[in-house]
Amino acid sequence: MKDISCKLLVIGAGPGGYVCAIRAGQLGIDTVIVEERKPGGTCLNVGCIPSKALIHAAEEYDRIVHLASGKNPLGITTTKPELDLSQTIAWKDTIVGRLNSGVSGLLKKSKVKMVQGRARFRDGKTVEVETETGQQIIRAENVVIATGSAPVELPSLPFGETVISSTEALALTSVPEKLVVVGGGYIGLELGTAFAKMGAKVTVVEAQARILPQYDAELTRPVAKKLQALGIDVMTRAKARGLAKAGGTLLVEAESGSEVQLAADKILVTVGRRPVTQGWGMEELVLDMDGPFIRIDERCQTSMRGIYAIGDVTGEPMLAHRAMAQGEMVAEIVAGHKRVWDKRAIPAVCFTDPEIVAVGLTPDEAQKAGSEVRVGHFPFSANGRAMTKLGEEGFVRVLARADNHLILGIQAVGQGVSELSAAFGLAIEMGARLEDIAGTIHAHPTQGEAFQESALKSLGRELHI
Ligand code: FAD
Ligand code: NAD
Repeated sequence: MKDISCKLLVIGAGPGGYVCAIRAGQLGIDTVIVEERKPGGTCLNVGCIPSKALIHAAEEYDRIVHLASGKNPLGITTTKPELDLSQTIAWKDTIVGRLNSGVSGLLKKSKVKMVQGRARFRDGKTVEVETETGQQIIRAENVVIATGSAPVELPSLPFGETVISSTEALALTSVPEKLVVVGGGYIGLELGTAFAKMGAKVTVVEAQARILPQYDAELTRPVAKKLQALGIDVMTRAKARGLAKAGGTLLVEAESGSEVQLAADKILVTVGRRPVTQGWGMEELVLDMDGPFIRIDERCQTSMRGIYAIGDVTGEPMLAHRAMAQGEMVAEIVAGHKRVWDKRAIPAVCFTDPEIVAVGLTPDEAQKAGSEVRVGHFPFSANGRAMTKLGEEGFVRVLARADNHLILGIQAVGQGVSELSAAFGLAIEMGARLEDIAGTIHAHPTQGEAFQESALKSLGRELHI
């Protein structure tokens, strides 16, 4: 096979890698991208998209179950629905398939060459790829490492038949009767909630003092309340110790120190993700590391000239939109543009029920940073649109510098608030002050009005509360 030489080689076609390659191609850079599995990476194939498809199906099913129970104020009656999870998964797979083709098409349109296979570094400028038709050598002036992350496996709970990661959970064809989720973070709660809505008896085992420890307690309280309403048992300060000899039973060290046995048809382990930095020759480059992650500067440049790293492989927050923004920036840097990571905030959304969105600093973080702040808090129970959606749980919270009212952080918890992340992100990125949000006409009736009202409230000018 003839060797390939190119200006830019991207390893991994997840959101970081494929966006980098598309932008580079658009800029006329001779670009090659290598992917061992399918275009779209974790996010598109076994992450963001499939999980949101499953969450949506579970919400629809749960809504109808609720209506069928007759305990709703809407005057709707219906019969109890049936769920065929294998059909739901087949539907999810069609969405994934369409997006796979979409990414391939976009790469092609940008004249990016795609090489299918596992890449292995020979040296900092040369990579060998095991393709179906033999070994392909690729030499590049610049290399972008975008190999992403994989689920963390607990030594006491190796993945197998009963113990599964999110990847297998997103491909189950029947709803497990009893599901134990180890790790009450993003994936555990998003998927745990979905499976509970689909009829599983779910128990969450979380090592920390509360679920979603990355968010503050005020934001997670409505989520904890809903977990309880869904019949999900949450054990906090609890540690999974391994399987009982007979299998199908998880041994847990509870907060009290006593051992609890949890019967389970499936045990979903979601205790974080590790960067894919081992086993493909990268270690031999001896790049500077930041713990398990690749160390990068504000241009995503690693310690070796001409080698960049983006996305999950570079650490927290391990979010698709961060990977994409890094990918776009690196492509422009390789094209000679003057770019540096100057984002003010990376929005985070947790697709639980209700959803959580957080952008910028929280009140605690601002306090720790020594900033004097004012906080505006507006509940959805005072928002007309939320009432019409039976979504009164939750609030929008805005915090701003006390002196000049520059907005430092915005958070919300509530039904459908993920869609407010765009407005929140824009406000912070554009350096909005409380008066800018308070003075912007927000369409009525929308949940977005709660954002305006939170700004008005922090200025002492609230209208609807
Ligand atoms: P990845 O998407 O992991 O892609 C890396 C690619 O590199 C993979 O395709 C892999 O096959 C390939 N690769 C690795 N090694 C090699 C090699 N040697 N040769 C060739 N190819 C290689 N984030 C959000 O922002 N929102 C969400 O709602 C969300 N939901 C999630 C739900 C789940 C269940 C999971 C698991 C993750 C979720 N994430 C979400 C996180 C998101 O998926 C990641 O942050 C994102 O995919 C990271 O992108 P990336 O490009 O860095 O890496
Ligand atoms: P996570 O970091 O969100 O949660 C892991 C949880 O497991 C934590 O609460 C931690 O305290 C707990 N834990 C760790 N070890 C434990 C143990 N031995 N026993 C019990 N609990 C334990 O990780 P995740 O849910 O695996 O998700 C991985 C990453 O994927 C996230 O950090 C996030 O970046 C990304 N993700 C994002 C979204 C989103 O944006 N909506 C959704 C899913 C995943």
